[in-house]
Amino acid sequence: MRLRKTAQRTPIILVVDDTPANLTLMRNILEPESYKVLLATSGEKALELLTKITPDLIMLDIMMPGIDGFETLARLKKIPSAKDIPVIFVTAKNAVNDVVRGFELGAVDYITKPIHRLEALARTRAHLKIQHLIHVERMQSEQIRAIINNISDCVLVSNKNGAIESVNPATEHLFGYVEDVLCHKNIAELLNYQGRPTDFINVLLNHDSDDPWWQHPSGKAANGKTFPIEINVREMYTHDPCFVIVIQDISLHRHEIDQLHHLSETDPLTNINNRRHFEILLTQSWQHCKRSNQMISMLFIDVDHFKSFNDKYGHQAGDSCLQAIATALSTALSRGVDSVSRYGGEEFVVILPDTDKAGAQTVAKTMLKAIEQLNIPHQHSTFGYVTISVGIATCDYDADHTRIKSANALLKLADKALYDAKALGRNRFECL
Ligand code: GH3
Ligand code: MG
Ligand code: MG
Repeated sequence: MRLRKTAQRTPIILVVDDTPANLTLMRNILEPESYKVLLATSGEKALELLTKITPDLIMLDIMMPGIDGFETLARLKKIPSAKDIPVIFVTAKNAVNDVVRGFELGAVDYITKPIHRLEALARTRAHLKIQHLIHVERMQSEQIRAIINNISDCVLVSNKNGAIESVNPATEHLFGYVEDVLCHKNIAELLNYQGRPTDFINVLLNHDSDDPWWQHPSGKAANGKTFPIEINVREMYTHDPCFVIVIQDISLHRHEIDQLHHLSETDPLTNINNRRHFEILLTQSWQHCKRSNQMISMLFIDVDHFKSFNDKYGHQAGDSCLQAIATALSTALSRGVDSVSRYGGEEFVVILPDTDKAGAQTVAKTMLKAIEQLNIPHQHSTFGYVTISVGIATCDYDADHTRIKSANALLKLADKALYDAKALGRNRFECL
């Protein structure tokens, strides 16, 4: 990222000397070099000028009536807007004592009288250049600080042991601690790391590591709440190694992904698994049963005489009926591994991993009973209320794998059993 350049203007140089000839001489040296030159004939006048103008450099004579150069220098160091202006003092004698005193008072350089044009110019250029570089650096660090203080990502600096050294306001806001408190903490504490805090920076640097922390990178706020994060760590190559850690709270993002995920596998009418998700579940369950030599059962369920239900009570009542049936079927399942999905229309499918024929029959009975208990009136049904028919297929992989070769074959068998249940009078189950 490129930072904004600071505009360079014509440098202003203030020359302070009680001898008009010296002032003229300095002006004649500096003005042809495109410097703007201001003149003051005493220390007092120079100080008064400095309350209104901030030059880039001051040439200050030492020997002056009234307040001399040393006193002027000492006083200008007390003016906030002037204290950082480089001062070159001009002395008739290069007595060591004067030079030392000048430097002690904060002057940056000195030149001796008689003034040599080239020397005066060389020192002027050198100090203006240094002053410009200091200014640029200050502006750039101000820009960087403003950027870091205003971005929404958390930016922290820690040492190699994870001890936090500085943070930006976004970090205070997200974690709910003020900077002083954060600077007494270790990054491991903020990021809920269970291992040795001093190892954590290496875990963070090593993105591919097997450390369990990487399974769910999360932050922990002052109120104890944890939230998912995205994190980036860089080593800063300074003399004392430290690390810049950038953290983003991705709760919102994660929530959106979870919602999308839920939508992609849920039937919008009944709020149970849709057919797409059923197919994934069936493949997984089949594979698992094959690997672990377990039984697996499937129920194929169809609402009886549903076309006439719609015709008599209307499509909306039909939709509500399907919703009530889906809820009742889900409630009838008690094990977490069992699942019910809407296969399509008024058809539902149930996967019962690790379940034999007797177990599947028990589930089917419970479901028939649950639908009966809904007691949804249906004039065109011989029972007077809405019923379902259930086809059951069970596979003991070892014994049946030549008869039932795939998950699809199991599904077809359940469908066939359903056909039998329909043919035998509905509101019942049949097994194959
Ligand atoms: P059977 O007892 O032999 O299963 O008879 P049926 O009338 O239930 O079977 P059929 O396949 O002839 O009709 C199924 C009906 O299910 C037809 C359709 O209007 C209705 N249906 C399918 N999906 C929906 C749905 O999402 N909402 C509503 N209200 N009705 C649906
Ligand atoms: Mg049907
Ligand atoms: Mg039907």
